[in-house]
Amino acid sequence: MEQGENQVKNDEISAIRDEEILVAEELFNGKCFACTRKITRITPKTKKIKKSFKGFTFHHLEYYIGEPRRKFYPKGSQGTFPYKRDVLKIIKLHPNEFVLVCNIHHHTIEDILRIYQHHTDWVSNIMDVVKRTDTKEPKRRINNV
Ligand SMILES: [Zn+2]
Repeated sequence: MEQGENQVKNDEISAIRDEEILVAEELFNGKCFACTRKITRITPKTKKIKKSFKGFTFHHLEYYIGEPRRKFYPKGSQGTFPYKRDVLKIIKLHPNEFVLVCNIHHHTIEDILRIYQHHTDWVSNIMDVVKRTDTKEPKRRINNV
């Protein structure tokens, strides 16, 4: 396989993986901004401590002209690692422009963001409904009214 400028070799891939774990732990406490999921976690089955960035992402709070964006890179793993390599440099320089989140909550953020960008007021209406919703336990009507 030819090594193009934007392709990364296997040893570079593991170096990028180590680097994103290090950056996540040192600059973002190694934890999802929304929930309790951590980079360093104990595998329930084996009880072994596992360090993995799998299932996490650095969410951009803002973009600057000329800086890496995932959509500028090829789809799939061919683009993933060149993008990660380039964006890690920006994250280290400007960590306050990023948030570490697990993929589940990244999707939640992106879903809400899509609404927010077009209809700012809808999100607070939706959050109002979320906060008012209390359906975990069915309630008992008093005197059947
Ligand atoms: Zn999360």
